Amino acid sequence: MTQPSAALLASWATDLFGVTASATLLPGELDWNARLDVEGAPAYVLKVHHPATDPSVLALQDAVLEHVALTAPRVAVPRLLATAGVSFGGHARRARLLEWLPGTVWADAGPPDEARLRALGATVARLDAALAGFDHPALDRPYRWNMRQAAALLGDAPFVDEALRPFVHTTLSRLDELLPALSALPQQAIHNDANEHNVLVGSDSGIAGLLDVGDVVRAPRVCGLAVALAYAQFGQDDPMAAALPVLAGYHAESPVTPQELALLPDLVDVRLAMSVVNAAVQRRSDPGNSYLAISQTAVRGAIESITREPRELREARFRDACGYRPIPRERRIVAWLQSAACDPAPVIDRNLAADPPLVLDWTHTDAATIAAVESKVSASGHTFGLGRYREDRDVYRSDAFAPSQAGGQARTVHLGVDLFVPAGEPVFSPLDGTVRSVAYRSDPYDYGGVVLLEHATDDGEPFWLLIGHLGREIVSSLTPGQRVRRGDRIAWVGVPAENGNWPPHVHVQLFVTLLGRSTDLPGVIERENIDVWESICPDPNVLLRLPVSHVPARDRSKSELARRRRANLAPVLSLSYADPLHIVAGEGAYLIDADGRRYLDLVNNVAHVGHGHPRVVSALAAQAELVNTNTRYLHGTIIEYARRLAATFPDPLSVVILTNSGSEANDLALRMARTVTGREHVLVLDSAYHGNLSSLVELSPYKFNRAGGNGPGPRVRVCELPDAYRGRYGADGPRYATDVAAHCAGAPPAAFLHESILGCAGQIEPAPGYLVAAYAGAREAGALCIADEVQCGFGRVGSHMWAFEAHDVVPDIVTLGKPIGNGHPLGAVVTTPAIARAFQTGMEYFNTYGGNPVSCAAGLAVLDVLRDERLMAHAAEIGAYLTAGMTELATRHSIIGDVRGRGLFLGVDLVEDRNTKRPAAADAAARVVESAREDGVLLSLDGPHGNVLKIKPPLVLTRADAEIALATLDRALAMAGDVTA
Ligand code: PMP
Repeated sequence: MTQPSAALLASWATDLFGVTASATLLPGELDWNARLDVEGAPAYVLKVHHPATDPSVLALQDAVLEHVALTAPRVAVPRLLATAGVSFGGHARRARLLEWLPGTVWADAGPPDEARLRALGATVARLDAALAGFDHPALDRPYRWNMRQAAALLGDAPFVDEALRPFVHTTLSRLDELLPALSALPQQAIHNDANEHNVLVGSDSGIAGLLDVGDVVRAPRVCGLAVALAYAQFGQDDPMAAALPVLAGYHAESPVTPQELALLPDLVDVRLAMSVVNAAVQRRSDPGNSYLAISQTAVRGAIESITREPRELREARFRDACGYRPIPRERRIVAWLQSAACDPAPVIDRNLAADPPLVLDWTHTDAATIAAVESKVSASGHTFGLGRYREDRDVYRSDAFAPSQAGGQARTVHLGVDLFVPAGEPVFSPLDGTVRSVAYRSDPYDYGGVVLLEHATDDGEPFWLLIGHLGREIVSSLTPGQRVRRGDRIAWVGVPAENGNWPPHVHVQLFVTLLGRSTDLPGVIERENIDVWESICPDPNVLLRLPVSHVPARDRSKSELARRRRANLAPVLSLSYADPLHIVAGEGAYLIDADGRRYLDLVNNVAHVGHGHPRVVSALAAQAELVNTNTRYLHGTIIEYARRLAATFPDPLSVVILTNSGSEANDLALRMARTVTGREHVLVLDSAYHGNLSSLVELSPYKFNRAGGNGPGPRVRVCELPDAYRGRYGADGPRYATDVAAHCAGAPPAAFLHESILGCAGQIEPAPGYLVAAYAGAREAGALCIADEVQCGFGRVGSHMWAFEAHDVVPDIVTLGKPIGNGHPLGAVVTTPAIARAFQTGMEYFNTYGGNPVSCAAGLAVLDVLRDERLMAHAAEIGAYLTAGMTELATRHSIIGDVRGRGLFLGVDLVEDRNTKRPAAADAAARVVESAREDGVLLSLDGPHGNVLKIKPPLVLTRADAEIALATLDRALAMAGDVTA
């Protein structure tokens, strides 16, 4: 049907909707679409629907848009502004005026990077999640774009190009097989059309919106995901590389189940087949419609590349992208191989369990070194040599191992184990089994003689063993189908002339699936696919049984680490910095990343005496080498440590219980206070943080009053923060404390719990006189006073070992953590003999790890280093220098509202306005931190407004480091757009 002109569409816009605009035609399959520009800027989309469009389908579209706008405003779909009727060529049509969403359609936005692909997946997931609660009768209409009904398209397969017909036929014919599993999944409304013309890319490269709700149907949501995957693969050299991030992005937003993933490869194929058939049918009825031809070239390319990869491998890669084990059977097979039921014979004539091999490192080696390996092994006195599983080998980067596909990655990671013994030695079958295939592969560096044995677990689950680099005679001595018994000699180690030109050895590789292949199985794989292939080909040492596997540590790139982290770590764990750091080492006050870049660490008050302090490291190692046990045995180190620790506290604090973390210490302190007083309530300071256990989240305003928190629970009373900078009583500490007494009225509390300088609240030291008055009020009501020194203890404040000491109070209980073990997990509760006695109710306190000798050795070493290196005095000196420097910076940077803290526990309060003390916007503060990180200095932000720079470095920070820190901060404040005062 002839399309009306743009001018006609513009005149309809005026007549029907009162919009004066110029119109530009947009592509459409059946409908006529135009962009309407008002005063030169795009403002609306006019859609004039095909006369045959079912009115209930138009009603469905209107309802979908309304539902999404109401329930999921974060998901951008165009808003429907008005509808009207129009007549053209004797046909009545519906016209709809929609909001114009700014952005570039995916097809025109250039090659997508990983972030954009992920964002696409996440957007589809969010839209489909919003549609899960939507219902409409037209969702179940007969529709040729509904995958569940796609088998009906088979009848049109003859219209498809001959080249694509087999694919279409096979794919659509399989649908019957898939339907039971598909029908078992929950059905819901899905967008169902995230194709390259319906996805809008925004100016920041994120996804700006999804267009066209004309294909919304009821189906399992995995069908909508399959649509997005199918189209994202268009035009890609490596279609899977595009599909995987889309899937990962979807999964992160709306987790995909293994059942859904089992259908996904087929559903992607089904969607491609549907596109081919539907285009062919429409080309017949509307040969002039150019839109139809647009996607078909891309579809053909995608089909060709996608079908190159075995279906099972595609599913394995999908599973891997979502963090599931790629091949589910691997777990069962490996468990059997490791079980007592499996008793393999040695593959070569050596006692593999007893004779240690010469372990060869072929990571960086050349052909000459490899050729000399035989003499190296015999000269070493070892009875055999071992080539490692999962080793990334330079030698495979040579031309002989060039990738088969242009642009493909080199295959460099070895998937088998190599056993080096002289040529002519016998090779045995480790288990009963069958010869599955046997071949002689004569190319240089290929396998030479190679056999694939099929075995099975006691449950009949098959697995395979590939043994390569054998002699040529194997092709006549073994026949496929032949049974072999455990311990049967099946072959001989090949000579170089027959084994692919390698030094004599056998390559042994395990397979839990053959992916539909025979001996054309890769022994070496691309680095980027190791995660998938180590599930297909697990470490064969489960069968060889060397006492040590010698598998090299996995070395992952930064982007791989980020990807794996997203798939296999809970997303509730956050990463610092927009471009996260990949830290591999630490030294003193510096952290070192994988590229060897050194960062000055002003964040880490855990590595108290310096990252990797040699005295702490050797104390840990020495004790670990002797024994690590628990507190149920007498041990000198725990007694020595308890005495040394207690000696740093004023009377009567002399009794110690060790835990594994600051949180555990606070939890125990609370239990003591509640047991001893017989009360439940606890007084805390506003914005305080006391730990990650449920008992402490409940008492930490920093958690319960912020995102995800449920507000104060029934057992907590929040006291006003005695904040000399922003608090309403200024530096008048005792005045703030009046509310401690007020909170004690009514149900009296078990404890008053406070940090001696509040860290997460933004480095706030209680105003002078506060703690004395607050302790008096709390004790008057019979409550115990607990000082949480987890962040600020161990001499960090410079003037005293413990920060409470600067406030003339002696707590009843003190809790310790973070710096106590210099990074080794350790915590402590220090209390009075009376409280310790009163806590003895008959219920034992046992903590498996708390107070183990290794932890105590670390704790002792920290105390030794603090003393010998005079780090408390050093903290006072460097802290004073930094404070003076930052105070000087404040004369030039008006964003600095306050410089505060003690020793090396400092805070810089960033403000918008010094007079009102209005906190700087969180993103301005974040810019300072990001810019300092670019310059190699690590800072963190905290406080209820996220505007306080925290400075709490390892105490070994030198004066030169402090100078670097100040200079960097100066630049970062300037870069963050601060107006120099
Ligand atoms: N108390 C305070 C004051 C803390 O800052 C923290 C940790 N930031 C904890 C307790 C809990 O320590 P951990 O995370 O080691 O359990």
